[in-house]
Amino acid sequence: MFTFRTMPWLRLFVSILLLGSVFTAYHMAGVQGEARIPPFVLIRLEDVGPGGQYGSIEQLGKLRAVLEYLQEQHVAYHIALIPRWIDYPKDGPAYDVRLDQADHPYVAAFQKVVKDALSSGAIVGMHGYTHQVGQSRRDDGHHESGIGNEFDVADVAETQTKAFAEERMREGLAIFRNAGITPQFWEAPHYHTTAAQDEVFRSYFGLQYQSEVQAHRNAPAAIYMNGRNEGSTLGAAYVPTPFDYIPSNKDERVILDRLGKSDNIGSFFYHPFLEFKSLIPVTDEEGDQLYRDGLPVYRYPDKNVSVLQKLVAGLKAKGYAFYSIQDYVPFTPAQHVTAADGSLSRLLLGDADGDGQVDRIDWNERNGDVSVTLGRYQGVRNEQPGQAAKWGRMAYKKGAAAAVSGRDEKGPCSVWKADPNGKLEWYAASGGRFEPSGSWTIDARAWDSLYTLPLAGGDLLVAGLTQERRELYGWLLHKDEMRPLKPYKLRSELRSELQARRESGGTLFAAKDGASAGIEFKPDTQKLEWTAARAGLDLPNEEGKLRFGDYNGDGLEDVFRWNSRTMTGTVYLRTNEAGWKLLSGFGPWGVPGAEPKLWIADADGNGKSDLALQDSKSGDLDVALSFIRQ
Ligand SMILES: [Zn+2]
Repeated sequence: MFTFRTMPWLRLFVSILLLGSVFTAYHMAGVQGEARIPPFVLIRLEDVGPGGQYGSIEQLGKLRAVLEYLQEQHVAYHIALIPRWIDYPKDGPAYDVRLDQADHPYVAAFQKVVKDALSSGAIVGMHGYTHQVGQSRRDDGHHESGIGNEFDVADVAETQTKAFAEERMREGLAIFRNAGITPQFWEAPHYHTTAAQDEVFRSYFGLQYQSEVQAHRNAPAAIYMNGRNEGSTLGAAYVPTPFDYIPSNKDERVILDRLGKSDNIGSFFYHPFLEFKSLIPVTDEEGDQLYRDGLPVYRYPDKNVSVLQKLVAGLKAKGYAFYSIQDYVPFTPAQHVTAADGSLSRLLLGDADGDGQVDRIDWNERNGDVSVTLGRYQGVRNEQPGQAAKWGRMAYKKGAAAAVSGRDEKGPCSVWKADPNGKLEWYAASGGRFEPSGSWTIDARAWDSLYTLPLAGGDLLVAGLTQERRELYGWLLHKDEMRPLKPYKLRSELRSELQARRESGGTLFAAKDGASAGIEFKPDTQKLEWTAARAGLDLPNEEGKLRFGDYNGDGLEDVFRWNSRTMTGTVYLRTNEAGWKLLSGFGPWGVPGAEPKLWIADADGNGKSDLALQDSKSGDLDVALSFIRQ
C-alpha cells in the first residue's frame, strides 16, 4: 500500500559526480557518503550603501536595474549593505547619510529598492557600520565608506578593541532595525578584524559571509566554528569568497576561467556600479526619461554586453546553479534557550502563546509544574529570551508521557498526557495557562513516548508507545469524543526512534541508523486499527538518522540526514517529481559524542523547519534556523 515512485536518483547522483564539483570542505572529510552537491556559485553585490556610487537618485535607479536584472535571470544574489555612509570630500561639506532617515526622500527610495529586492528573494547582510574610520579626511582614503578599514586600523587604537566592535555592531543593527531591514549575515569591511572582535561578530551572527581570517584564511569552502560564543550560543559558519572579485579593469573571465579547476567553491563578489555604464535610460515617445517610484528607469541592452550579463550567461552555459548562502549553509546557528528546571524537566515544543514561534514547554518531573519560555527567534541571536513562567500543573508519575499538538478550537497548542494509571488527559493553552480540557480512560500501561498526528478534517490522533516498546496505541479525537485504535503488537522491541510524518495523511515512521527505508505506521480511522508497511525512500544509505521536515517551506516533506557521531548532516529536498535533490551539507554543529536530542520544528514561524539540539545533561536548547528570508 505504500508505493514510492522510483526516481532515477542514482543516475542523478552519478552525473553529479562526473561533473566533478565535489563538496570537499574538510569539515565533511571522513563522513561516509560525503555530500556532493551540483556545481554552484555564490554572488554577493559588494559595498552597497546610501552614498558613494549609489549616492544619487540616478545611481539608485541604475542599482535597481541591476537588481531587477538578476531577479529576471533567476540569479540568487546577496547584498553587502553598509548602514551608514560617511565621507569627507576634499572640497565641500562632510557626507553622512544613514539608512534609517526615512524622512529623507533619497533614503526612502533607497529603502524601497532594498525591500523590493528582499521580497524578490535577495539576501541582505550587514557590511560593517560605516566601513570607514574617523571623523576627518585622511591621506590614505580610509575616511570614506566602502573604501576604508573600520576595525583594527593601525593608527587608531580604539578600533582594535572588542568594545569598539560591540558598539559598532549595536549602532549598525539599530539603523537596520529602524529601517525595517533584518540582515542575515555579517561581513567585516575588508575582512579586517582582530580575533577578539570576531568573537563579538559571531555572538551576533551565526552566518559570516567571509573567510575565517584568524586561522583559515585560505579555506576553500565553508568552515564551521563549533564552540560556544559569548552569550552561550553555539557555533557559527564562515562562507569564504575564494574566487575574490572582478576588478574594474577585468571582466567575467576572471571568474569563468577559474571554475572547476580547484576545490574552491565558486564564491565571489562584484561591485554593481561597474554595470552602470552599460545601462540605457528608458524614455517616453518624446525622449523624456521615465520614472518609477521616484527613480529614473534604466534597462540592460538586449545583447549581453556588460560584465554581469556575460557572467550570468557564461555560468548558465556551464551548468552552474546560483546558490544563496542559505542553500549552501542550510541552517544558520542561532539562539540558545536554557531549560527552566535543568535536568529535572521534560521538554516539549509548541507555540503556547500563538505568535507563530515555538516556545519551550518544560514539565517538571518532581512537582508537575509546566513552565513556558516564550520563543524569540526573529531578532539577533544573542538577545535573551524571556524568563520561564509557570503555566499550569500536570501531575507526573513514572511511566507517564506527554506530547504537544498544534492549533485547535481551544487555542494555539495543546499538551497531551498519557498516565500509567489509565488516563489520557488534554491541557489546552489559553491566555498564559494550560487548562485541563478533557480526560479519557485508557489501558493502564507505562509509556515510553507519546506522539500527535493531525488528521484531515481537524481530527487528531494521539499515539502512545509502551515502555517496553512493543505495543503502539492510538486514540482518535474527534471534537470531544475519543475512540481508541486496536493496539499494534510488534514482533520485537522497536529499537529505532518513532517520528511523525505528514506525508500519506499522517504516519509514524521508524528507521535504523544509516538506512533509507523503514517501517511506517498509519492509523486506519475507519477500522480503528494501525497498518504497518515497509517504506523505502530512494535515498543513499549514509550514516545517520533520517529527520523529516519542510526545510525550504515549499509544502513538501524534505529529509535531513543527521550523523550524531560527526554532528554533520545533509539536506535532501523533495522535488515535485517525488524525487530528491541533494541541497547541501551542514556542520559540524554540536559536540560529537554528547548525544543531544535533535528536534525538528519551525522555531521562528516562517514556514520552514529548523533544528534544535537538546543537551542531554542540562536540557538547554541550541537552535539553527533554516532559510531565513525577510
Ligand atoms: Zn567592503
